[in-house]
Amino acid sequence: MLEKRNFYINGSWVAPKKPNDIEVINPATEKACAVISLGSKDDINDAVLCAKEAFKTWGYSTRQDRIALLETFYTLYKKRWNDITDAIIQEMGAPKDFASKLQTGTGASHTKSFIRYLKEFEFEKPLGDHAKNQRLIYEPKGVCALITPWNWPMNQVTLKVIPALSSGCTMILKPSELAPLSAMILAELIDEAKFPKGVFNLVNGDGATTGDALTSHPDVNMISFTGSTRAGALISQNAAKDFKRVSLELGGKGANIIFKDADPQAIERGALRCFRNSGQSCNAPTRMLVEKSIYNEAIERLKNYTNEFKVDDPKKEGEHIGPVISELQFNKIQTLIQKGIDEGAKLVAGGPGKPDGMNEGYYVKPTVFADVNNQMEIARTEIFGPVLSVIPFETEEEAIEIANDTDYGLTNYIQSKDSEKIRRLARKLRSGMVDVNGAGIAVDAPFGGFKHSGIGREAGKEGLLEFLEVKSVGGWS
Ligand code: NAD
Repeated sequence: MLEKRNFYINGSWVAPKKPNDIEVINPATEKACAVISLGSKDDINDAVLCAKEAFKTWGYSTRQDRIALLETFYTLYKKRWNDITDAIIQEMGAPKDFASKLQTGTGASHTKSFIRYLKEFEFEKPLGDHAKNQRLIYEPKGVCALITPWNWPMNQVTLKVIPALSSGCTMILKPSELAPLSAMILAELIDEAKFPKGVFNLVNGDGATTGDALTSHPDVNMISFTGSTRAGALISQNAAKDFKRVSLELGGKGANIIFKDADPQAIERGALRCFRNSGQSCNAPTRMLVEKSIYNEAIERLKNYTNEFKVDDPKKEGEHIGPVISELQFNKIQTLIQKGIDEGAKLVAGGPGKPDGMNEGYYVKPTVFADVNNQMEIARTEIFGPVLSVIPFETEEEAIEIANDTDYGLTNYIQSKDSEKIRRLARKLRSGMVDVNGAGIAVDAPFGGFKHSGIGREAGKEGLLEFLEVKSVGGWS
């Protein structure tokens, strides 16, 4: 078992002030694969103090210095690709190919993309031709608290750490206590790349103690958080006390609107997008809205597709899905599947219990419910498991109404060949992202949500701006 008790503070791996061990459970085996420590308020105080001190110089570092360090980091990241992938397989059960290509892959793509934006970004510019003595200066926000979840561990960590480093901020990363191992490799890479001490710090821990100490610390200037809507609300309350900037990437309950003129493969593609990563993606299209005239055919196709859908050991290569993250999450999903049955939705494939022969590991059967009504709990709650709810609709207006009738607003999906209709819908859907005909959202496109899905945007130029303050100087000469 890996011993990973230390924190990375001020350029060194240090022991926690008070021992407080917790095991990291491999969800495929239900056994511990590592032991880490939960940080205390004192550990957080140390890390924040070091980040505050480091900001005095790093906050004025040159763009060239930051680019050079980030390029070294990027080279080192590619060298440790397999180690990062193995850590992700162990900590959260993503299958080998998926973990390598998508989980580890997104960390690399975000790093590359932010380096490009850092090279191009205008940190100083005149307000405009009409006011040449008015100068805008973009400066780093300061000390940042970065808090990440377990479902896309390296994606979430790089979406925060890399723009924070690019902008000249200093930071304390608290990765999910359920999946901290890949983030600890990232800390090793930052150390190896020789970022100045105190610029990046990592303290492991839970939400209630470590996360709370970090988000309520008066010397933290900004919080960037990805996780549940519940924790996002608590963090915002902490931030309000001293007006910290808050960037929140929260949950989703995306609608995938399939019109009768859609490419027939849109049905299977939609199910795959829902089941991928064992349904543990905030932007998963978990409500499939299908036009009435193709509804029966769609249900038949979903039944066949889902019955063949493979669930297997994450250590194996292939296109299957692995387990869900924890026993707690497994039980929550089971309760919601039962709730769907009790509420009268029609179970088309999957259902309660583990897939045949998979007794060890938190494996869930890919599940499809038909005849779902948008008021049912399975249509309203973010299940975070491979569970698809299919809802019929008759008109475009009805589809928009159902899609927007949710607390969330992260990603919606449209499947149709009619460009006019696509444009009308894309404008009316109340979500931060709209994905049409499986095109996907670009790695550097702004990522974030409306309503309870959050505040702010990550990735690309918008993601860099989150970590910057703009200063106006009048009378610049
Ligand atoms: P979670 O909110 O329980 O935990 C996320 C992180 O926040 C963890 O590091 C946890 O320790 C910490 N945390 C929990 N309570 C806290 C508190 N009171 N103060 C400070 N920190 C606290 O969420 P989770 O179960 O780890 O992740 C799943 C959730 O994340 C889902 O709801 C999912 O939709 C959401 N998510 C959103 C996005 C997005 O970009 N919109 C991406 C990934 C995951």
